[in-house]
Amino acid sequence: MSNPYNVQQTAVIGAGTMGRGIVISLARAGLPVLWLDNDPKATEAGLAMLAQTWRQQVDKGRLTGEEADACLARVRRVSGYAELAQVDLVIEAVYENLALKQEIFRTLDATLKPEAILASNTSALDIDAIAAVTQRPAQVLGLHFFSPAHVMKLLEVVRGAATSPAVLDTAQALGRRMGKEVVVARNCPGFIGNRMLATYVAEARKLLLEGALPRQVDEALQGFGFAMGPFRMYDVVGNDLQWRARQLAGQGMDAPLVQVDNALCARERFGQKVGKGYYRYAAGSREALHDPEVDELVIQVSRDLGMRRREVDDAEILERCLLALVNEGAKILEENMAASSHDIDRVYLFGYGFPQATGGPMHWADEQGLGLILARLERLQGLFGEHWRPAGLILRLVADNRRLADVREGQA
Ligand code: NAD
Repeated sequence: MSNPYNVQQTAVIGAGTMGRGIVISLARAGLPVLWLDNDPKATEAGLAMLAQTWRQQVDKGRLTGEEADACLARVRRVSGYAELAQVDLVIEAVYENLALKQEIFRTLDATLKPEAILASNTSALDIDAIAAVTQRPAQVLGLHFFSPAHVMKLLEVVRGAATSPAVLDTAQALGRRMGKEVVVARNCPGFIGNRMLATYVAEARKLLLEGALPRQVDEALQGFGFAMGPFRMYDVVGNDLQWRARQLAGQGMDAPLVQVDNALCARERFGQKVGKGYYRYAAGSREALHDPEVDELVIQVSRDLGMRRREVDDAEILERCLLALVNEGAKILEENMAASSHDIDRVYLFGYGFPQATGGPMHWADEQGLGLILARLERLQGLFGEHWRPAGLILRLVADNRRLADVREGQA
């Protein structure tokens, strides 16, 4: 057994939004896939979606009819874990719930051959807590795809504390075989991308409460070159996902920053899929149309919270949203959660629609001059408080006249 992790036969658990895209990516890369969901209707609908996707690609001339048939023939629905016993690698993509994922990993560990690799597509859960329920933590890792998984280029490979180098290499090779931009992240809440996103979205939400309106925030960031501002992004993803998660967890509903979202969801403004969210949408259209009702709602929510609204200009929107990304990115680098600032840039360029021309948020910060970035962070800290305290790494780099790009893995 010279190469125990030679991945030939794969499996996917879960046939929802992500499972479907992951199966398409694997099958397109020439890998056979066994597909399991506890709801047989989900895999049935999933297979129909796969067939339709490949048919459209044939129509567009991106795939021949034979290739499409071969892709479809590589995917087989199964109805139980026993049929997965001989797979080399499995990717789990069920609901985002730790106890559920742990239960599935326990079953996979008990059923799959000892050398199989077990991966989770979790967006933010603790990979080590998932690995801990298995007898093979060295073969457990995160494979974090982005939605839609067969379209988005980014794959965050999440390395748990116990993940072995050979397993990590195998996962990276698999990602490249699927045509992905592979970035290795270490295990921390939200990994690289979603951890940074949380700070960026928090600033966008605060700006709404202080005086900005959703369209203004989105247009300022789109003017900078983002594919989509944060509120348009929420309309695409679905405002209800986090709202339901807050309700399920029984916590976080009272936080001031989510009150606009709560108010939108209370009015069933869940986003594009229902024709209204932060914007409104004509039937069947994805064009985000301004909705004065949402502006009124934002103003009402901020007044109810006792905020005194003020003029917010586009420069402030850019300053706060971009510097939030940079400061959190620097902390991620400092904590060794990413191997380089370039990796952080790739996450943002290929997974989050950050403008390509800037080279990514960390490169952008280096180009601005880290000394200037530090002064701007200190100014924000003075105005808005401690959460703007500059990352220690930025202070050290400025003192040494170095750039974020100069930091090598393990030397922050
Ligand atoms: P989804 O709700 O669309 O699909 C989940 C699927 O899991 C459903 O088909 C459901 O029937 C199935 N399932 C539930 N319990 C199961 C079980 N015990 N055994 C087998 N199948 C089971 O969810 P999704 O959006 O595809 O998300 C799946 C995972 O991917 C989550 O961990 C999520 O955080 C992560 N993720 C989602 C996105 C996104 O944008 N949707 C992006 C990246 C990662």
